[in-house]
Amino acid sequence: MRTKAFLFLTFLLFNTVSCNQNAKEKSNRLYIIATTNIVADAVKQIVGERAEVISLMGAGVDPHLYKVSQGDIQKLSEADIIVSNGLHLEGRMNEVFDRLQNKTIIKLSDGAEPDKLLQINQQNYDPHFWFDVMIWKSAIIYLSKQLMSIDTANAEFYQNNTKQYITKLDILHHWINEQYSKVVPQKRILITAHDAFSYYGKAYQLEVLSLQGISTLSDFGLNDIDRLTHTITSRKVKSIFVETSISSKTIESIVENCNRKNHLVSIGGSLYSDALGTSDSETGTYIGMLKYNTQTIAQAIK
Ligand SMILES: [Zn+2]
Repeated sequence: MRTKAFLFLTFLLFNTVSCNQNAKEKSNRLYIIATTNIVADAVKQIVGERAEVISLMGAGVDPHLYKVSQGDIQKLSEADIIVSNGLHLEGRMNEVFDRLQNKTIIKLSDGAEPDKLLQINQQNYDPHFWFDVMIWKSAIIYLSKQLMSIDTANAEFYQNNTKQYITKLDILHHWINEQYSKVVPQKRILITAHDAFSYYGKAYQLEVLSLQGISTLSDFGLNDIDRLTHTITSRKVKSIFVETSISSKTIESIVENCNRKNHLVSIGGSLYSDALGTSDSETGTYIGMLKYNTQTIAQAIK
């Protein structure tokens, strides 16, 4: 009897200890809040399952207009690390970030080489730098170094993941160039709703025109519609593009305008600009999104 009781007690003790260990392991995982799902993907590629990564903005959400909810503030206040894109992409979140000064906030834009960034005016830079895969690669390396210095226990794991991931980014960069090498220079023109693709155009030799400015907060007028309509008809552009995080109405009205002027132009597809697709889709990762956009554009403009 005594042996049985002893065994039972040992069993209980063992289980209690292992349960506690599990709980401790879980609480040891970093809780990382990313602003957009593009930023969250960057973090996940580095940390894998060793940290919990939550994105505040999901598929189809426009970061320029995004306002934090009470639930977001709760998550941000509980976070060990906050990762943002920076350069005012999350324009309406800056006030919240200012109030979280005791938190570690990593801005991916700090990892971009300053001379690679596109300036909009004296004070501001275009925030959509993820569309140049090589600039995004610099941001990933920077993010990885920051995470390694904070989570030293997992540093080696993070470093290995980063190494493998940047190899994939090199392959992606090369693959995008290859797709456009099949499109003649005079047809390499990309027309979209807002100015998200300037880095993409510069990196992969496409002329980029858009209806709206860098931020979807900026207004556009009839002049902008006329200007684009004129370009499309005079340059015989056959496809223009809508974006998943922005209303397609204005691009549709440009298509109608052109058709009224007897120039047939159609919508070449819906591009992912400031948000990835849903996590279960092929566009749910950064690499998947760039592949999808590139295939869609290259197919429609050639
Ligand atoms: Zn944007």
